[in-house]
Amino acid sequence: MTTVPPDAGRSWWLREALADDPGEPAPPLRGDLTTDVVILGGGYTGMWTALHLKELDPGIDVAIVEQDIVGGGASGRNGGFVNSFWGDLEYLAYHFGDRATIALCEAGEESVKAIGRFASDQGIDAWYRADGEYVVAASEEQFGRWADDLITADRLGVSQHFQVLSTDELRERVASPVFRGALFRTVGATVHPGRLALGMRRVLLERGVRIFEDSPVTRFGTGDPARAETPGGTVQAGVAVVALNAWAHHWKRFRRTVVVRGSYIVMTEPAPDRLKEIGWTDGSGVADMRSAVHYVRTTPDGRISFGLGGMQPNLARRIGPRFAYDPRAIEIAIADLHRMFPGFVDVPIEAAWGGPIDVSGHHLPTFGTLGKGNVHYGHGYTGNGVGPAHLGGRIMANRILGKADPVLDLPLVDLEPLRFPPEPVRSPGALVANTAIRRKDEAEDDGEEPNPLIDFVAKLPRRLGYNLGP
Ligand SMILES: Cc1cc2nc3c(=O)[nH]c(=O)nc-3n(C[C@H](O)[C@H](O)[C@H](O)COP(=O)(O)OP(=O)(O)OC[C@H]3O[C@@H](n4cnc5c(N)ncnc54)[C@H](O)[C@@H]3O)c2cc1C
Repeated sequence: MTTVPPDAGRSWWLREALADDPGEPAPPLRGDLTTDVVILGGGYTGMWTALHLKELDPGIDVAIVEQDIVGGGASGRNGGFVNSFWGDLEYLAYHFGDRATIALCEAGEESVKAIGRFASDQGIDAWYRADGEYVVAASEEQFGRWADDLITADRLGVSQHFQVLSTDELRERVASPVFRGALFRTVGATVHPGRLALGMRRVLLERGVRIFEDSPVTRFGTGDPARAETPGGTVQAGVAVVALNAWAHHWKRFRRTVVVRGSYIVMTEPAPDRLKEIGWTDGSGVADMRSAVHYVRTTPDGRISFGLGGMQPNLARRIGPRFAYDPRAIEIAIADLHRMFPGFVDVPIEAAWGGPIDVSGHHLPTFGTLGKGNVHYGHGYTGNGVGPAHLGGRIMANRILGKADPVLDLPLVDLEPLRFPPEPVRSPGALVANTAIRRKDEAEDDGEEPNPLIDFVAKLPRRLGYNLGP
């Protein structure tokens, strides 16, 4: 039985990045200031918005207010999969039509590439590798779940982005006894989330963006000017951007459109020889087709970072400490890692952590505007925000500056959110549905039929119109 590593307080990524180059920390906000744009939240959404704003208008005055350090939320804790939207092809085409789908997928692909270019241009060693990603069938039941996406890809003439691999073909690239073939998506990269976040902070500071860390916004007024209050001071601005990801759930306005789930990652010690044995030597990502998805990637020094999504440690009305570290979820992740890659059973687990996910009913982010038209928000990535946050930042920056960028016509702009039920139904209902979804996934992993009641409850969200995973 492998030992569950203790709570180190931060993700391995952020600790590694801080040890490698802590950079210039940003001070807490002290006193009152006025700026053109105030951004609440220093994750990728907030930071890309600031970077796009500065690129479009170098003279604009921007301040970011972050409760922790930049990247302290999901952006410094994630699996580092940089995705576009090609993986949602059938769903997108059904809801938004063919043209809008292609436009969105191409814009998402451009963001995947732009992140790599940015890191390289700015000298950020973010371990960016654009080697594509495998969507694997990790049980008989998962086999072929990609069929609808392939049919849509064929119809739209974009099949070049996909390749179906048999079990044997997949085994030559990434071998696991549980894999039953895969869909390979050519567009996709992996990145070191912590190095990217700290690198972005450096570039933002160089470009004159004021960043205030350790500065939780305790009150926010959406008037004109907007006003963000922190314990040490206040920022007033003509324009505000709410980039709080899962923490937006704490704001009454978004309580029914963003719900919170947990995702957990375990990181092994380096074992490059073991990776060679299973043939996995590039920077590709592997995700399976469970609803409580496994997302797995390697590092250049030969580690496996093994992620487990779709967890809910409690009623999730607030983002408590179990979202950052939950021994039970970590134990499950370790067992699942060993089931998928038995050759790693005796490789010690060096670190484990978790983070909150901003789940939206569409499984897609939305970028909208509130108040008198001067308060913008972007969230709802549902665990796929590393690439899309770059696109979201581009959308919000163009909107703020009144520029005419074609991304403003994408269907994510002002996407009407699906509302979750009110309390007291929402939190217990989500916990019950989530538990059933996990049990169904686990039964399928074991090659068993899920119990009919569990199957019924697990499918309920989809029957009610929510898209919470495959
Ligand atoms: C464990 C895990 C694994 C993931 N894996 C992947 C992956 O592999 N690929 C992928 O595409 N996506 C993944 N995601 C999701 C992805 O990390 C996010 O969608 C993405 O980083 C979007 O960033 P964001 O800026 O919207 O959110 P965040 O990075 O969470 O930023 C929001 C910020 O707001 C701050 N904040 C909150 N409240 C306040 C307040 N009151 N005042 C001031 N600041 C506040 C938080 O501290 C946080 O820094 C994962 C997420 C988690 C948790």
